[in-house]
Amino acid sequence: MVQELKGNIRVFCRVRPVLPSEVSSDENLWAEIEYPDNLDHKEIVLSSASENAMGIERKDEWQFSFDRVFEPNSTQAEVFEEISQLAQSCTDGYNVCVFAYGQTGSGKSFTMEGGSTEVTTGMIPRAVEQVFQVAEELKSKGWEYRMEGQMLEIYNETINDLLGKGEFDKKKHDIKHDLKTGRTTVTDVAVVPLNSPSQVRSLLAFAQSRRTVAATLMNERSSRSHSVFTLRIYGENKLTGESCDGSLNLVDLAGSERLEKSGAGNDKDRLRETQNINKSLSALGDVIAALGEKGEGKGDKHIPYRNSKLTYLLQNSLSGNSKTLMVLNLSPLASHLNESLCSLRFATKVN
Ligand code: ADP
Repeated sequence: MVQELKGNIRVFCRVRPVLPSEVSSDENLWAEIEYPDNLDHKEIVLSSASENAMGIERKDEWQFSFDRVFEPNSTQAEVFEEISQLAQSCTDGYNVCVFAYGQTGSGKSFTMEGGSTEVTTGMIPRAVEQVFQVAEELKSKGWEYRMEGQMLEIYNETINDLLGKGEFDKKKHDIKHDLKTGRTTVTDVAVVPLNSPSQVRSLLAFAQSRRTVAATLMNERSSRSHSVFTLRIYGENKLTGESCDGSLNLVDLAGSERLEKSGAGNDKDRLRETQNINKSLSALGDVIAALGEKGEGKGDKHIPYRNSKLTYLLQNSLSGNSKTLMVLNLSPLASHLNESLCSLRFATKVN
């Protein structure tokens, strides 16, 4: 079970395994990742050996600690075990946010969506299943729940409806916050009543297919945009008259890699995409860091939600009655060392 930490924000780090395709290539694999406290699973140490001009090997080491570190052999079930308590707290009326952060290819989609087999099923379908199961169990205590879902993409600071039927990229969607109820709505998007985990799986597949179609214009769109799945849950207790509503937001963030100095980096569209990604990821970092400080008792600090669409959309799920988890995904390759360090530093800022 995960423990409560400051400001209800936790950060996990997950290193993906070396893929079979990488083993067979010439890639200089980076074996220098260590997990020193293998009982607590909180520490990770990266190191790189390099030779200086005089041929002497110098070893740089970077150590980070998190609420939990998952080694490459960790299974989806093990990761979910640490998340399930958090996910199901939306049935108690909490707003829950789970983010996957990392460079493209680090395992964000694998973690969040996962594969098609039981073993590889990701956090979104597992969390949905869990919420349905808990709702069913709570029936005996008088609770009746209604659930609805939406899936949005934020691309270049524009919201697209992944469950909509209209033409992609054409409709304008605005974010509205209801101050009284604390609910957030987005205009003109499909909000679908959810009735079973298998229906949610088909919805996710539909959303994915819409993204793939849109990607014919722009390669690898899914790695250049954020996807936000929101499950809203409304509960009423027939025995006690109590009611509650909560939400579960599961977010696969755009790749955090920096713009290359040459090649694609010179492309104007690509530059704009990257600037928007950087802007929204740093806005997210700022918001989470500010919330963490607030949780430490520094009073009513200004939280800069409005600096990006992502943070503005999730404003009500990142404040007040909310629980947030960031999963930091890392690639194990030597060639990704610098990006991994950037990700680790980002996570340290929000932790
Ligand atoms: P991202 O969403 O960050 O771009 P992906 O989730 O697509 O990255 O992962 C890149 C590749 O690594 C995919 O082929 C994926 O199946 C594989 N992968 C990622 N994490 C794992 C893991 N924990 N176990 C096995 N394969 C993984």
